[in-house]
Amino acid sequence: MKMVLATGNKGKLREFRHMCKNEVVPFSDLLGAFEIVEDGETFAQNALIKARTIYEKLGNDYIVIADDSGISLPVLGGEPGIYSARYAGEDASDKDNLYKLIDAVKAKKLKETPAYYTAAIAIVSKYGEYVVHGWMHGKVINEARGEKGFGYDPMFIPAGFDKTLGELDDDVKSDISHRSKALALAKPIIAMLKDKA
Ligand code: IMP
Repeated sequence: MKMVLATGNKGKLREFRHMCKNEVVPFSDLLGAFEIVEDGETFAQNALIKARTIYEKLGNDYIVIADDSGISLPVLGGEPGIYSARYAGEDASDKDNLYKLIDAVKAKKLKETPAYYTAAIAIVSKYGEYVVHGWMHGKVINEARGEKGFGYDPMFIPAGFDKTLGELDDDVKSDISHRSKALALAKPIIAMLKDKA
């Protein structure tokens, strides 16, 4: 069975490829690019919506993996959360979203405040559906530093570090990230599904 990643997000794809030794192909290579309406109320629901949509189009020879993720700030009541990709509007860029969140931190008159990333990874195959989660805790600051990573990384400092993910090497992020923690839980499930095939 082939593994397909249900994402159009280049940052996520790069990280999955790094963590899975290039074993994943994006769904757009097989189906072309199209929008998936993510109208779930949780990361898990949205990850399942993405994985099921692609699985239904590709058929049962595939293991489809989808990640739904985002950043949450307790001081903002958990925002942007599941709305992280469209925080600054439906067609917002990563930079628009980043600077909107920086402005929201500044509006609270804070230089820094606790924050965490969540990743839900859904796996859909003919043998069933699974969802696992991973988290990365830390804080956000009221400015962008560094160009590495993607999304909100230039304002996020992981717990135990004094640099943002925009400044830290990709290898550091892949050791500690919400996505890598979720993927560590997903890998034995994927291995089991491949064994059954
Ligand atoms: P999704 O594609 O609907 O899951 O939206 C994910 C959004 O959350 C991205 O567009 C980013 O804004 C944010 N996000 C998720 N994971 C990360 C990360 O590892 N770094 C930075 N931003 C992230």
